[in-house]
Amino acid sequence: MKVTPVSTTAVIGFPEGIDWDATPDSPERAVTDADFVGEFAGRACYKSWSKPNPATAANSDYLANIIRQGHFSVLEHASASFYVEGVSRALLLELERHRFLSFSVESQRYVDQTKSHPEPVIPPAMRDNAKLTRDFQIEYRCALDAYRAYVSMLEGQGFSRKQAREAARGVLPNATPVDFLVTGNLRAWRDVLGKRHHMAADAEIREFAGLVLGHLRNIAPNSVQDIPEKPYE
Ligand SMILES: Cc1cc2nc3c(=O)[nH]c(=O)nc-3n(C[C@H](O)[C@H](O)[C@H](O)COP(=O)(O)OP(=O)(O)OC[C@H]3O[C@@H](n4cnc5c(N)ncnc54)[C@H](O)[C@@H]3O)c2cc1C
Repeated sequence: MKVTPVSTTAVIGFPEGIDWDATPDSPERAVTDADFVGEFAGRACYKSWSKPNPATAANSDYLANIIRQGHFSVLEHASASFYVEGVSRALLLELERHRFLSFSVESQRYVDQTKSHPEPVIPPAMRDNAKLTRDFQIEYRCALDAYRAYVSMLEGQGFSRKQAREAARGVLPNATPVDFLVTGNLRAWRDVLGKRHHMAADAEIREFAGLVLGHLRNIAPNSVQDIPEKPYE
């Protein structure tokens, strides 16, 4: 499984006339842009630019307070996109249930699955067992053989390649890998982590959540400061 950060929110301007030294070289901006935008959004609500309260003067303290109060909408202004490779279609199905995430997913109607995904995603419970892993790979390759045969039969009957692949993909299992780009704002990612960075979650999506959390610790560390390293129980 690979989860690569592709983009995040960038601060590109600052309104004139606001009593807050947030010019690019100021100490106020010595935080990530994604964390900065959250604080900006919160301060915009109360016009508390000049920061009279020392307890929430620093970005980390400000966002800790926002999180404590559940004032989560301010975390919707910054987002993070990840390109995800080599996860199972089962994981994608679960992740897509999170309605505030946006997806661009490799199409099984257009992409030849035998070429793009010759090997299955081995479920975490089987990874350390060489025999189970081998059996699982053999069964997956059988499914790919069936897929290839259906594509060829249907093309032989005059169906287009796209029509043949869209029919043949029905024989592929949940462990078929899939690659996609997924974007969420920080509130949405926090919500996903609350449910999937959790011991009750499926093992593969829990692994995915751990990788996302690791990236968010770089992209917006103060916005995820309350999320523990170990999955929730
Ligand atoms: C351990 C685990 C097991 C699961 N098992 C199953 C299963 O067996 N079968 C199954 O179908 N699903 C299952 N799910 C999926 C689960 O039901 C949710 O679909 C998924 O976790 C996304 O959560 P969500 O709807 O809260 O997220 P989002 O869609 O991201 O929504 C976030 C929040 O927005 C609010 N919201 C969004 N839409 C609405 C709405 N229409 N009405 C009111 N409030 C809304 C809610 O507060 C919601 O929590 C499981 C999830 C987990 C974590």
